[in-house]
Amino acid sequence: MKALTYVENGKFQLVEKPKPEIRESRDAIVKVTLGSICTSDLHIKHGGVPRAVKKITVGHEMVGIVDSVGKDVKTVKPGDRVTVNVETFCGECFFCKHGFVNNCTDENGGWALGCRIDGGQAEYVRVPYADRGLDLIPESVTDEQALFVGDILATGFWAAKISEITAEDTVLIIGAGPTGICTLLCVMLKNPKRIIVCEKDEDRRNFVKEHYRDVYVCTPEACEEFTRLNSDHGGADRVIEAAGGVDTFQLAWKCARPNAVVTVVAMYEEPQILPLPDMYGKNLTFKTGGVDGCDCKDILKLIERGKIDTTPLITHRFPLSEIEEAYRIFENRLDGVIKVAIEV
Ligand SMILES: [Zn+2]
Ligand SMILES: [Zn+2]
Repeated sequence: MKALTYVENGKFQLVEKPKPEIRESRDAIVKVTLGSICTSDLHIKHGGVPRAVKKITVGHEMVGIVDSVGKDVKTVKPGDRVTVNVETFCGECFFCKHGFVNNCTDENGGWALGCRIDGGQAEYVRVPYADRGLDLIPESVTDEQALFVGDILATGFWAAKISEITAEDTVLIIGAGPTGICTLLCVMLKNPKRIIVCEKDEDRRNFVKEHYRDVYVCTPEACEEFTRLNSDHGGADRVIEAAGGVDTFQLAWKCARPNAVVTVVAMYEEPQILPLPDMYGKNLTFKTGGVDGCDCKDILKLIERGKIDTTPLITHRFPLSEIEEAYRIFENRLDGVIKVAIEV
């Protein structure tokens, strides 16, 4: 089969590999039907993920059809249409039982797929703990509608969940990239009083204005003042930082009102400074971390009921055979790209 492979720093290549096989009794093999490219894939390509293993097949955003299952798999069977979770988790350790599946203590727990074990920018993918990592796609939901459930949409859902949003709140979301927009969709479900999206790229600001007319939009330069003027208590009640830019963490806490919650889901390439003397007395609550993909079943139900629609994010489509070109477009942000769908 064809599989996009991490050859060396700076180089991914589509190569021929054997079709994966069941290794453990809880594995499933999934025939990938649709995949995508994530910014985290670019971090691997550029050596920003030291735990990523050379020669692995990359890719961790995908949907497909179950091809075969190990003897202890109970919830899915060959022929089922499924989403694949970015995280591998056993479901039995302390962290899994508390819903913190990102912190699963299994040796491949957390984000392993397409990083430490072979992923899904390929024709087939082996999914360990298939009962946990695969979720059935409802019949009325298309592959494109379900494509982001296991990764960026799970991130947005989790960010909105842990931010403790109420109906009185002004919520500021920093960053309108794919994760920022998924976060926006999930924050909208909480019906806060106002939502402000801060984004530096004009095309992305326009995308938000076009698709989500009730949302306030501003630039990073204007963000502090804009948030102060468009909130009730001198700053945002909730801030979600989904940009991961050079200054965006500083912007996040500066735009928050005293006693606000600041949730950081962005992935930074550099350490960030926490200037405690400057924030003294502001009494902020910080929440940090990456995706915790424990709500995929709920997310699929919301998609089925028409409450979440991420399909406008798919701006480009390529066959697997042209995935290297898809990377070129995505990586260089050409042609107004937001997300690419890879048809397998
Ligand atoms: Zn990702
Ligand atoms: Zn676990």
